[in-house]
Amino acid sequence: MSLRSFLEQMEAKRENLHVTDEVSTRFEIPFIIKKWDDEGPIFLFEKLKNFETKVVANICGTRKRICDALGVCQIELYGKLIEAWRSPRKPEIVENGPVKEIIEKPDLSKIPFLTHFEKDAGPYITSAVIHAKSVDGSVENASVHRLQVLDKKHLAIRLVPRHLYKLWRTAKEADKDIEISISIGVHPAVMLAASSPVPFGVNEFDVANALMDNSLRLIKCEHADAYAPAEDELVLEGRISGIREVIEGPFVDITGTYDVERRQPVVEVVGIMHRKDYVYQAVLPSGSEHRLLMGLPREALIWESVSKVVPKANAVNLSLGGSGWLHAIVSVEKQLEGDGKNVLLAAFAAHPSLKHAVVVDSDIDVYDATDVEWAIATRFQASEDLLIIKNVRGSTLDSSADQETGLTSKVGIDATCPLTRSDDKFKRAKIPVSKHFKELVRKLVIV
Ligand code: MN
Repeated sequence: MSLRSFLEQMEAKRENLHVTDEVSTRFEIPFIIKKWDDEGPIFLFEKLKNFETKVVANICGTRKRICDALGVCQIELYGKLIEAWRSPRKPEIVENGPVKEIIEKPDLSKIPFLTHFEKDAGPYITSAVIHAKSVDGSVENASVHRLQVLDKKHLAIRLVPRHLYKLWRTAKEADKDIEISISIGVHPAVMLAASSPVPFGVNEFDVANALMDNSLRLIKCEHADAYAPAEDELVLEGRISGIREVIEGPFVDITGTYDVERRQPVVEVVGIMHRKDYVYQAVLPSGSEHRLLMGLPREALIWESVSKVVPKANAVNLSLGGSGWLHAIVSVEKQLEGDGKNVLLAAFAAHPSLKHAVVVDSDIDVYDATDVEWAIATRFQASEDLLIIKNVRGSTLDSSADQETGLTSKVGIDATCPLTRSDDKFKRAKIPVSKHFKELVRKLVIV
């Protein structure tokens, strides 16, 4: 299982759009991806201005494709993810793999990195899965980070204070750099595993291997003490400096607005390996793929957490308008009055970045914004059903929050039907029709 095999699978399902006209990596490719955002196809940019390489984008841009990649249907998706988080499996380490076809000295100027938005600091890598070990070798970690391209051999890495940050801090305190592999062009399962909220100490490559039914193979890097999937398209080997830092940004993140600029560490690239005819994988910041990759694992966490407070959680949607990160719509089977508010509390507890949450009954489609709005319009009373939590930690990605401290206000909306009043008051009325009538309607077309 590799990105290549997945692209072949998607070719057969007519999910791939081949762009054969010459396009530039600077703004033109991002513009095309953005134009087709939300349920857009996989883009294969086959002819680039100034580069020999092809670019692929929007691979995980739809829920359907993510489900196909994991071999599950929508209702099985969260279960599959959670099972892999609970039972990670060590992948086999192999001597050689397609990614080692070409091993070269570092020269980043040959790789078609994209420049995405008007005021971005420059080209960025946005699809990188980074693997590293702790100084004592006891902990391994794989996670997704954005990298700003500084020159032919250097990158700046955004380290959100999570696991790789912790490994880097520990190395820095011991006056050491941390050696990393940067994988670009991986199977969607590797991407999803690396975006998963598993505890520190769990190697996300083991989670990926569980998601891939034990078919992931890793190779040891040539120039860095790190591993990478053997079937990657491209791997950069490098070291995150314990000393050298630069201002990283400006850069557009998931909300489609510019993130604040910060001092971040520099990565020295010490080696490059790739397939002979490698394809460069791009992820458009704030595009539907970015939102799904970041949001889906959190939906699974919310689904699990909510399932503990009500008999049945039907569906969770970290909606596109909420950038796949800040807004959740949860549909549940309510049993007792007050269940709705417990669902909201469970959702906030499961995903600390969540800002606004709406809970609805199972007759509401969480993916249909109009349906959700209708539930709020007809089933919600602000004086009874509104939950406001002030001065709580949220996401620094939200422009309206205090982006230094991360403090924000959260709102929960309980738009479930009150059980104290008759169902007829709240259920959508139906029009009874015969089968014959349905067939008649199907034939009605405007000519
Ligand atoms: Mn981790």
